[in-house]
Amino acid sequence: CFGQHEIPRASFESVTAKVGQGLHKPREEPYIDFDHYQTNNGYQILKDCYAGKTNKESLLKLMEDSGLRGLGGAGFPAGRKWRLVSAEPGPRLMAVNIDEGEPGTFKDRTYLERDPHRFLEGMLIAAWVVGISEIYIYLRDEYHACRQLLEIELEKLRISPPVPEIPSIQLRRGAGAYICGEESAMIESIEGKRGLPRLRPPYVAQVGLFGRPTLEHNFETLYWVPSLIQNGAEWFKQHGRNGRQGLRSFSVSGRVNKPGVHLAPAGISVRELIDEFAGGMQDGHELYAYLPGGASGGILPASLGHVPLDFDTLQAYGCFIGSAAVVILSQHDSAVMAARNTMNFFKHESCGQCAPCRAGTEKAVELIEHEQWNLELLSDLSAVMRDASICGLGQAAPNPIDCVIKYFPHELANKESIA
Ligand code: SF4
Repeated sequence: CFGQHEIPRASFESVTAKVGQGLHKPREEPYIDFDHYQTNNGYQILKDCYAGKTNKESLLKLMEDSGLRGLGGAGFPAGRKWRLVSAEPGPRLMAVNIDEGEPGTFKDRTYLERDPHRFLEGMLIAAWVVGISEIYIYLRDEYHACRQLLEIELEKLRISPPVPEIPSIQLRRGAGAYICGEESAMIESIEGKRGLPRLRPPYVAQVGLFGRPTLEHNFETLYWVPSLIQNGAEWFKQHGRNGRQGLRSFSVSGRVNKPGVHLAPAGISVRELIDEFAGGMQDGHELYAYLPGGASGGILPASLGHVPLDFDTLQAYGCFIGSAAVVILSQHDSAVMAARNTMNFFKHESCGQCAPCRAGTEKAVELIEHEQWNLELLSDLSAVMRDASICGLGQAAPNPIDCVIKYFPHELANKESIA
């Protein structure tokens, strides 16, 4: 019964966004507001849910069948998460992560600025299926224009709710800390505390916000829910390349002609992404290296430009795709400089709670500032950070260093000792 809804599909095409995440002026271009969204059958799926035209189990099954995974970076299957939280005792809460702090990532902002109600409908459908009583949206503080837009559109939703019994929705501002994009640190921050990641277990699905079972989702995961229900699991799965299934929104930046958010088949390689979606390399630049997953996803050489960009494959290369922030470097760039840059970022953003990350990032910065890298010490340091850090920040921080040693030994002054 959801097949006939005609909601504008601007999001199915590649949309370009201004690269960068800093302060930006309120957006002046038009977007799909509450009235426009409803005129095009928006919120009809949610109305059908409340009218009993579908049931929770069928939507849970659809989400599981689609294979949609969390698009914030961790990639946990969304349907399984819905089922796990549904099974927990109420009251159940929801936390929506729009902190979007990974360097090079700007997909959530791009979609939010253009089609906020597609996300809000997805959020409310998820809340209905899982039985959520309160929703907290955690928005990156630097996204001033998004905050204004969301405040306006949430108010319209409150004044004229498309269905009765909408859960309470609170919009919370982050305060500029990268670590608050980590789900448990975000929850601490929403609770009004310092954003320190929690030790797990218990997982937030069991003991999350204010001690209650919590469905935590990235913005984009919820954004896709209406389209998935409308078009079916098979529609989503029929996309994909190199043996992978689904779609991914890649935030592409660096030495390409068309930086921006490009919706492309999951499993596409970086060379295909550059040539078919990002307008090719800029004049005078050739692909030299790329960061497949922002600052924390590692650095790969052009010789591995054919590797499918997906959750699982990249792990074999010591990298990960995370939120799909692909940064393209050319022969005018250097992997060593990229590693120094990212490690300085991690040193600055480490919350300081555990020694392997707090002291490890500082030590790593010091070691890689030398022209001659102490490879034995760096290798030990990486292992300790990876094994003993509490959260993903400290565990992933050594990725760029390890990649330089493995894939770019020619850039190191002590290359003879590596060979
Ligand atoms: Fe904090 Fe780093 Fe430890 Fe994570 S790994 S808890 S960011 S000190």
